[in-house]
Amino acid sequence: MTRRGYYSDFGGAFVPEVLVATFDELTRAFDAARSDPSFWAQYEALMSSYSCRPTPLTYAENLTRHFGGARIYIKREDLNHTGAHKLNNVMGQGLLVRRMGKSRVIAETGAGQHGVATATMAAKFGLECSVYMGAVDVERQRPNVFWMERLGAQVVPVNEGSRTLKDAINEAFRDWVSSMDQTHYVLGTACGPHPFPEMVSYFQSIVGLEARRQLLEATARLPARVYACVGGGSNALGVFSGFLEDPVELVGVEAAGHGLETGQHAARLASRDASVGVAQGYKTYFLQNADGQMRPTHSVAAGLDYVGVSPILAHYHRTKRVRFEAATDREVVQALALTARKEGLIPALESAHAFARAFKEAPTLSGDQVILINQSGRGDKDIFTVAEAFDDPEWKTFIRNKAEDYGA
Ligand SMILES: *Cc1c(COP(=O)(O)O)cnc(C)c1O
Repeated sequence: MTRRGYYSDFGGAFVPEVLVATFDELTRAFDAARSDPSFWAQYEALMSSYSCRPTPLTYAENLTRHFGGARIYIKREDLNHTGAHKLNNVMGQGLLVRRMGKSRVIAETGAGQHGVATATMAAKFGLECSVYMGAVDVERQRPNVFWMERLGAQVVPVNEGSRTLKDAINEAFRDWVSSMDQTHYVLGTACGPHPFPEMVSYFQSIVGLEARRQLLEATARLPARVYACVGGGSNALGVFSGFLEDPVELVGVEAAGHGLETGQHAARLASRDASVGVAQGYKTYFLQNADGQMRPTHSVAAGLDYVGVSPILAHYHRTKRVRFEAATDREVVQALALTARKEGLIPALESAHAFARAFKEAPTLSGDQVILINQSGRGDKDIFTVAEAFDDPEWKTFIRNKAEDYGA
């Protein structure tokens, strides 16, 4: 038996002394909620009335015919309110905040998706909300900043360091140290100090629970393989959790960016470029230099562009329960285009990593085998990036005209 909060020797809770009591309080609240049979029922009821749960399972018959191999099924997390699986975690933490009687939440955000989800939850639960965001990201992600503010959140630009996600995380922790009595920190993925990895994957396990039941109903068999993209690891752990005890191969797909050989990627487990270290309150694989400096990462998908990875996935990497692969920006954009054309579905660029890898492997499997892809989110948000990748001239004209309208 290993220590709670450790997976192999990954994980842990390396937090400042002043926060130890707050982490204990959170762990106790989470344990009490989890052992209260009405809590999960309350969570499911909330998610079905507010976020389209259970999300459907879609048979991708045209893609299946196209590749001529395994039958392809898609779990539709894109149909959640705010467009991705992130709301599963955020609403669950909202219920915990209510149980703890706190009145304010804070969050970090990179691309802004977790910030929008948290601001949404705060509006719904009547909580005060501050979202920390690197100043560079505030500029890059104006549409999400706009909506967070409309939802009533205060967006705090962070001007420290590289002015991106990791600096936002540091500032959010700094806020928490001085406000913990009334404030809960809504961490966005299955990373960070214990109990966050365990708690976030608990709420995301709703994806795997539903998917397993739906697949058995639809096909009367277990999938040969399950594919999910891996940023921090929460959607992957969510869908994988339904199949951990089954003879099912689990495939986590990271961002190969411009290619693993270029160094411009965000593959922590599928490359040899990451090493084990302690940062941001937990122990895992980080893309870091020999002196522990975090390396710049790259992905066409902003949500996969993170230096660390869930300690639970690091553990499944070590025990070989999950196979890790990586897909390049180019493969990902092609997979998105093909999925739109064949199925009328636009996966988020993050999710399209899982599609790209599944498309490589589907033709090598037989027609009586089933594979499952987790569509973690919808791609509407990615219009700027995708239009640029396709070098769409009409889109450029549109943007130029808009700029002119504002006197640029
Ligand atoms: C944030 C995000 C991800 C990456 O986060 P995980 O914790 O790895 O799931 C993946 N897909 C979408 C659509 C996202 O918004």
